[in-house]
Amino acid sequence: MTEDARPQGFDTIAIHAGSAPDPATGARQVPIYQTTAYQFRDADHAAALFNLQEAGYIYSRLTNPTVSALQARLAALEGGAGAVCCSSGHAAQIMALFPLMGPGLNLVASNRLYGGTMTQFGQTIRRFGWSCRFVDLEDADAVRGAIDADTRAIFAESISNPGGYVTDIPALAAIADAAGIPLIVDNTLATPALCRPIGMGATLVVHSLTKYLTGNGTVTGGAVIDSGRFDWSASDRFPSLSAPEPAYHGLKFHETFGPAAFTFHGIAVGLRDLGMTLNPQAAHYTLMGIETLGLRMRRHVENAEHVAAWLAADPRVEAVSYAGLPDSPYQDRVRELYPHGTGALFTIRLKGGYDACTAMIARLKLISHVANLGDARTLAIHSASTTHRQLTPAQQEAAGAGPDMVRLSIGIEDAADIIADLDRALG
Ligand SMILES: *Cc1c(COP(=O)(O)O)cnc(C)c1O
Repeated sequence: MTEDARPQGFDTIAIHAGSAPDPATGARQVPIYQTTAYQFRDADHAAALFNLQEAGYIYSRLTNPTVSALQARLAALEGGAGAVCCSSGHAAQIMALFPLMGPGLNLVASNRLYGGTMTQFGQTIRRFGWSCRFVDLEDADAVRGAIDADTRAIFAESISNPGGYVTDIPALAAIADAAGIPLIVDNTLATPALCRPIGMGATLVVHSLTKYLTGNGTVTGGAVIDSGRFDWSASDRFPSLSAPEPAYHGLKFHETFGPAAFTFHGIAVGLRDLGMTLNPQAAHYTLMGIETLGLRMRRHVENAEHVAAWLAADPRVEAVSYAGLPDSPYQDRVRELYPHGTGALFTIRLKGGYDACTAMIARLKLISHVANLGDARTLAIHSASTTHRQLTPAQQEAAGAGPDMVRLSIGIEDAADIIADLDRALG
């Protein structure tokens, strides 16, 4: 094996992928290319770019060098063929589904997803004529049973928000493969530091960059990473990728771009027409965040394991949902599929119910009461009195946001200080 063929480690990729010195100036850090447009060399160059015969920069709704650097880094970290960044995690979900779906078509998704995704899939996508069937991913027969001739994807979170439930990605990938449809995994809570879904058989990975990838609560962003492995031309179910595209003189994305088809389509049609573009400032902050992703995730996990174990042993706490606890029902799956840890987000149930939860939140000093997660700071939210307050107690329970439940996103402060704040706040 030559020196160059030696695969780089995760922490090296996190710092170097996509960040060659700037060709114009030699700037070692990726510059923020704060520009809307790029000058064409001549009329032929412009025509070739617009025909997708040559890759290059036209207009920053489509491509921007700072955003491209981030896309290259995310693709490398996830082991994908390409990535498209977008303006939020929710935008990334629409961008992932857009080439696959059409009126009358459906997707099959986990019934334990981030609340915002439940609303996006349960209600909003109906406006496009798409629909979603929510199933328990632990029930393989239910997943298979929900798939029909109009199903175009299975959607799951690697580690799910808010309960920290860990998904058996290889089992789901096998079901998706048998049905000839892609598996999409939201890897926001695990990040590629803890889980690489493409290596387990996923076709597409989506991210909210807003959370751990940036890591400090400064950015709203998203990304879709494509494995490059799905055969979009094997059936007539994915015409956006396999059939002639009228807006590009009948070009067929899969035939022309092969493993880069989904990524090219995402930029040339998705960003062009949906316009959910990430700005270069946000890409810069995320590139800076990713440089320390491996270090931060190791610390997030170490702190979460510590704090969860302390809470589980406390008599004021009824239950702790963290899959990384030694007595978690998911221990075998965690050992096999999530050996570097199960993230840093979990819920606790308090014996004192709703009133104990709101009193605890009111007494927090170090820990912030906010709706975000995946920040360097430890964050807490009582969903029943905030994000889920319009629901009945039964609906709150079904959504994993019961009145006695507080969600914690454990940060990278000193664990002893996080525990001291919780200890005092529990009263
Ligand atoms: C936050 C989040 C999203 C949505 O991301 P935004 O950047 O807020 O749009 C999607 N999935 C998961 C798991 C999340 O935590």
